[in-house]
Amino acid sequence: MIVEIDNTSGFCFGVKAAINKAEELLLQNIELYCLGQIVHNEMEVERLEELGMKTIDYEEFKEIKNKTVLLRAHGEPPETYEIAKKNNITLIDATCPIVDKFQKKIKTTFESQNNLAQIVLFGKKSHPEVIGLNGQTNYNTIVVEKVEDIEEIDFNKPINLYSQTTKSVENYNLIIEAIKETQKKTENENLLNVNNTLCRQVYGRNDLLKEFAKKYEVLIFVSGKNSSNGNMLFNICKSENKNSYFISDISEIKKEWFENADSVGISGATSTPMWLIEMVRDKILSFNL
Ligand code: SF4
Repeated sequence: MIVEIDNTSGFCFGVKAAINKAEELLLQNIELYCLGQIVHNEMEVERLEELGMKTIDYEEFKEIKNKTVLLRAHGEPPETYEIAKKNNITLIDATCPIVDKFQKKIKTTFESQNNLAQIVLFGKKSHPEVIGLNGQTNYNTIVVEKVEDIEEIDFNKPINLYSQTTKSVENYNLIIEAIKETQKKTENENLLNVNNTLCRQVYGRNDLLKEFAKKYEVLIFVSGKNSSNGNMLFNICKSENKNSYFISDISEIKKEWFENADSVGISGATSTPMWLIEMVRDKILSFNL
């Protein structure tokens, strides 16, 4: 049985940079806190915690003083920086440069229209990147999770539309089309400004992943359950190969998936470490099928 790894999988550069920064500080024996999970992958978080990193939530962050705290690639709202200043916290800011640029863009648009610009963001309300972006507009962003949510938009006002970086192109297009359709009915078709804020590191993989998923009899996709891009990329695999399985840990692998297969492909999300993907490969090879 052939078992191959998708060489476009593994961390995106934003996540890689945040993890490298954490490792560098931990090696210097610096007491390091990370605000929220550094990456949506439990096993990678555990590995870094074993090296000494402490993951804290926002309530704990408000309580600590004089410590060093790493901000992950998703970015943060302005109040995180204010709390750090007040509590003499040294911030190691690993906000991905793409997210940083996106935050500035939203902030500038919002402020340039006297805080009256209607900012609409396609994304998951509870996702840290969305919270960080919404914070740039003093939480005046209309977050749209699905087509039905466009009811919250005022169609008599200009719309500045953005997407969370890890959303799928197809779903973003559905939102764009639904807004355009509603605008036609209200005769306000010129009031939409669509911004392409999807991350190439994710959507650039879509076509390559489709080809990869088709090549094998069985496809294993490795990702944390709460990874937004992981779920999106897995759906692509599933649509191309019905024998696709989503796993987060090697203990979830079942020998019977491979019993009649001659080829297996393994891929993962932008938050999946390569060492975990390699462990999955080794476990499948250990079945000696
Ligand atoms: S997915 Fe893209 S925007 Fe998000 S952290 Fe990775 S490189 Fe940055």
